[in-house]
Amino acid sequence: MENKIWLSSPHMGGNELKYIHEAFDANWVAPLGPNVNGFEADLEHYLKADIKVAALSAGTAALHLALIECDVRQGDEVICQSMTFSASANPIAYQGATPVFVDSEPDTWNICPVALEEAIKDRIEKGKTPKAIIAVHLYGMPFKADEVLAVANKYNIPVIEDAAEALGSTYNGKACGTFGRFGVLSFNGNKIITTSGGGALVCRTQEDKDQTVFLSTQARDNAPHYQHSQIGYNYRMSNICAGIGRGQMEVLNDRVKARRKMNEFYKELFKDIDGITLFTESTEEYYSNHWLSAILINPEVTGKTREDLRLAFLEDNIESRPLWKPMHLQPVFAKTPYYGGKVSEELFKNGLCLPSGSNLTDEERNRIASKVKEVFGK
Ligand SMILES: *Cc1c(COP(=O)(O)O)cnc(C)c1O
Repeated sequence: MENKIWLSSPHMGGNELKYIHEAFDANWVAPLGPNVNGFEADLEHYLKADIKVAALSAGTAALHLALIECDVRQGDEVICQSMTFSASANPIAYQGATPVFVDSEPDTWNICPVALEEAIKDRIEKGKTPKAIIAVHLYGMPFKADEVLAVANKYNIPVIEDAAEALGSTYNGKACGTFGRFGVLSFNGNKIITTSGGGALVCRTQEDKDQTVFLSTQARDNAPHYQHSQIGYNYRMSNICAGIGRGQMEVLNDRVKARRKMNEFYKELFKDIDGITLFTESTEEYYSNHWLSAILINPEVTGKTREDLRLAFLEDNIESRPLWKPMHLQPVFAKTPYYGGKVSEELFKNGLCLPSGSNLTDEERNRIASKVKEVFGK
């Protein structure tokens, strides 16, 4: 069997171990220290906006704290993009609140501003104003930020921006992660850069950052003994993981370039195959990091389904994956409200994510191309 070609795998830059050694040398082997501060400063500098970043143990932890800081409590409702990874929605349930799922629009595959407004109006009519809106930049593609924020502002509902997949993406030149009341980043092993596991909350003020750090370190009051007036969490990032992050920040721009080149590779590969559409920016406003490249396969035109291609890839040890299954179709969320049509369902039916790593070789790209040509008879 040939080597496995991964959908997206860790890609070290070279200096990660240097920062980890520094942590060991100074005995900062703890969930705080110079690498944590340095990584936060690197992210703040990279995002080029008036924001503050708190480094946390996971993107999921960042989403959870964002909900808490938006005062989401038991019995509240939170709107969430249906087409996403379950981690976008699970923290709503951690708070004892109910998710209200909203369909995507076909340009960016992200939350549809029209369905969003419809959902807000209907929930208000039924007696509850949603406490927050979770919008996602799926696969690195920015959502329609102007329209989504206009709807959110009209009803005065905070937006929690799930930018877990979109570090390095911009909308109208502004970094993803800096649009919402809070922005969420993830550094899991399969993301565009990794800290092995980790995340961050992008905050608008130093006050919000301080509150995030406070909650993520067990909510200790200012006293010599351990005193607590609030429920806290153990969500801070480790200084070892942050060392990996600092090394990764040195190569982030190269990683974005390489992922975007993978998207170009697929554009070329599929340009002569009728019935296959590559997911890419619809206008100049969008700049995607193309964390994952994805395609839609029209079975009526190609005579093949996305499952046919996935299984053919698998035969050659090439990993590919259906798009995120919408949350309103998930058994665990079967009883939650949903607004919109069938856009996300259709995307799920026909969509496939392709190997997109920044570390793929020419030989691996050739293997992918041969398989595609074999399956579609080109
Ligand atoms: C990865 C991811 C998360 C969760 O991040 P973790 O760091 O794995 O907890 C949340 N939302 C989306 C869209 C993601 O892709």
